[in-house]
Amino acid sequence: MARKCTKCGHSGLKSHEPSVYHYRLSALDNVYLTGGVTEYICPKCGTKSVAVKNVAGLHKAIAASIATTKRRLGGKELRFLREQIGFSAEELAKVVEYSEDHIRKIESDSHTPKATYEMFLRVAIMREMQAPEYDLRELGERKEYAIEELNFMNKDHSWIKMAA
Ligand SMILES: [Zn+2]
Repeated sequence: MARKCTKCGHSGLKSHEPSVYHYRLSALDNVYLTGGVTEYICPKCGTKSVAVKNVAGLHKAIAASIATTKRRLGGKELRFLREQIGFSAEELAKVVEYSEDHIRKIESDSHTPKATYEMFLRVAIMREMQAPEYDLRELGERKEYAIEELNFMNKDHSWIKMAA
């Protein structure tokens, strides 16, 4: 399948595979890719485009790396983690009990967040938080609740949680 120019529809695009590619599409300034990238240029109108292999896998790898970084994170990194867990700024604001405006300030480096804010995002990435059984967005709403009984059964020295 020949790739066509997105602007003029020309199909004779010239391609090349950069040895190292500065991945600015991530909205991070410090990500470089080796392999997996093809750059295209249209010889007719000069429009450039790029194809990156397995973007979902790449973003997962970037997020895992950021989440385990041994320093405090910058605004762009925090934004990347938020987007990676699929939270809008509004949704995250509810969960962490900040205003949306505060989150935007954190993400543009005009506010330094509390460590708990950073930890929430890091831990969320580390446990791949989109666990189907529990959506952490629900943390943003304080509902009435009763503490339920937890029953565990011992089997071959392991404790197994019993169904309610
Ligand atoms: Zn073109």
